[in-house]
Amino acid sequence: MTASMFENITMDAATAKEKRQRIVSFTLRPAQQPLTAGSIQREWFSTAPIRALEYLETAIDEARSVGYCQEIRMVPSKRAGYVQLSWGGANKFCTLGDMLGWARGIHPGEGMQVSHRCHNPRCMLPSHITIETPIQNNARKGCLVWVDCPHSCEDRILVCSHLPSCIKFVPGFETWEDFIRWGVH
Ligand SMILES: [Zn+2]
Ligand SMILES: [Zn+2]
Ligand SMILES: [Zn+2]
Repeated sequence: MTASMFENITMDAATAKEKRQRIVSFTLRPAQQPLTAGSIQREWFSTAPIRALEYLETAIDEARSVGYCQEIRMVPSKRAGYVQLSWGGANKFCTLGDMLGWARGIHPGEGMQVSHRCHNPRCMLPSHITIETPIQNNARKGCLVWVDCPHSCEDRILVCSHLPSCIKFVPGFETWEDFIRWGVH
């Protein structure tokens, strides 16, 4: 093997490494998407569930208890209908749904949505969300969830067929889980 052959091998290896690095950095951060305060915050909160949980824990101090839900102080935008969050100089960098998904380690792929099982866009409980298609999400609209039993007994009849089920407050039950266990026919 001559010295020039060695040089070629070394150069090829370096070029391949450089190419890989270029591919990696392109995948992470396309040149046409410069870093913004919002993209930094999205990356920070979306990459570790504990950070999203901490955000929600801080916000829960100002939350309002409504039925089985905890309502965040912020109101949904009139146009889009969902709550947008701001933090650390980044204005409206994600939706409450994004944050709730991240808190559970969920990153909705193409065509999937974070959906509130409780139909309450201000609810900030990670257990009240699920991930589904826009069609499934939309199908929850108007779901009665449960109705009184026609015998006028104490039990209710679950009329929700969505999976996981929608959540609606039931007088007399501390939690939705208690209702499912004890209050359904
Ligand atoms: Zn809720
Ligand atoms: Zn009955
Ligand atoms: Zn339902």
